[in-house]
Amino acid sequence: MPNQVRVRYAPSPTGEPHVGNIRTALFNWLFARHMGGSFIVRIEDTDVARRVDGAMDAILDALRWLGLDWDEGPEVGGNYGPYVQSQRLDIYHRAVDELLSSGHAYHCYCTPQRLQEMRQEQTNRKEPPGYDRQCRDINEDERSSLEAQGLTGVVRFKIPLEGETTFHDLIRGEITFANQTMDDFVILKSDGYPTYHLASVVDDNLMEISHVMRSDEWVSSTPKHVLLYDAFGYEKPIFAHLPIILGTDRSKLSKRHGVVSVLHYRDEGFLPEAMLNFLALLGWSLDDHTEIISHDDLIRHFAIERIGKAGAIFDLEKLTWMNGMYIRQMDRNTLVHHILRLLDDELPPEVPRPISEEYVHAITPLVQERLKTMKEAPSLVDFFFLESLEYSTELLIQSGLDSARTANALESTLQLVTGQEVWSAEHLEQELRPLAEKLEIKTGQLFGTIRVAVTGRKVAPPLFETMAVLGKDRCLTRLNVAIGLLRDG
Ligand code: GLU
Repeated sequence: MPNQVRVRYAPSPTGEPHVGNIRTALFNWLFARHMGGSFIVRIEDTDVARRVDGAMDAILDALRWLGLDWDEGPEVGGNYGPYVQSQRLDIYHRAVDELLSSGHAYHCYCTPQRLQEMRQEQTNRKEPPGYDRQCRDINEDERSSLEAQGLTGVVRFKIPLEGETTFHDLIRGEITFANQTMDDFVILKSDGYPTYHLASVVDDNLMEISHVMRSDEWVSSTPKHVLLYDAFGYEKPIFAHLPIILGTDRSKLSKRHGVVSVLHYRDEGFLPEAMLNFLALLGWSLDDHTEIISHDDLIRHFAIERIGKAGAIFDLEKLTWMNGMYIRQMDRNTLVHHILRLLDDELPPEVPRPISEEYVHAITPLVQERLKTMKEAPSLVDFFFLESLEYSTELLIQSGLDSARTANALESTLQLVTGQEVWSAEHLEQELRPLAEKLEIKTGQLFGTIRVAVTGRKVAPPLFETMAVLGKDRCLTRLNVAIGLLRDG
């Protein structure tokens, strides 16, 4: 085993940072940090047709959001750069020449049309599709004459016609593929770009990668890589293929299951600590029961031996639950600042700025227990700030009461609270509880209508604490407005 742990996360910039992909990044990062090794980011952008503008930035943003810092890679550089494959074309061309000269690769001039016809015939004959190796044995003269016709072609790797290729996987044990099941795959395309297989092997070797940890879907590529390593005479890294990520219906996680971009969860108000914890448990576990594991403990305990083989289920409900746990554990001041920032962004412009930090400090304890995502915060507390509340008068009328009795109850409340000098939650409760009895209505009915009058909604944080924080003036105004609505209606 190489003595220095060097692992890489090698995303292709083809779309949004998928949770499965970022889980791979996280496992590599945790392993590097646990072992005191290096975590390298390499951008695999040699599939020109699939490149998406902005995808690389989005991937790097997702890593930064989760705090997955990289020791080498784009933006930070390093001794093994460049770390973007499209900037390493010469290196791949030299590697391809090496394989051509050693007889491990050959030029193929088959046209796309011929390949398509060949595939069609294979399908008709119910044979597995694969290149029929027509160009494998053409000689130099034939090659020159084909090139003279202006054909550029591709370069293919020569798979041994017999035998087997075996490798050891740290998670799945020994894996063997019959060479006959492998195609003479392309290593250099006609556009001059290498394919993933070639570029990834060349780079993993040059970048001295010790462990290749990637998702299960690459298992069938690994024997091809092993053959490439052998053809080059490179020392092989250690392989570990991570379990697949499934939706709650146990099928492979895809857009069908909901949004799979990590940045979406950031934008929806999930905390990076919760996301990190959640992703770490997609295929890895500390023991058979611990769910909440801090960043430091993840690094301290991460071990490849505890990565499972079975598919890991991406359960949004669990992520939401975990996020709520992290919000509850959050330091009060940090949460206040989060909420303050969100309110500043989302409250309507007529709410005067700057928003009072002291006021948000008083509000925060009333919602900290109830928040599942940060994004819910503004809509949960906006009534504390709005000058006038919009709600339907019907909401004020509790079941078993009518409009007149409700208006009466609110008037008595108004009278009672107007006279109060002390404006605290306990005191308000002490005064208002007996009022229900006096009015011969249930406390639930009285408190229900007061709640709607002062918050504009049926479900809100605890009533008396809310009234205490809202302050006397606001409560009196709102009670008056509610009475007016009932009397006019
Ligand atoms: N570029 C590949 C991907 O997008 C990397 C696979 C590997 O890690 O070898 O997943």
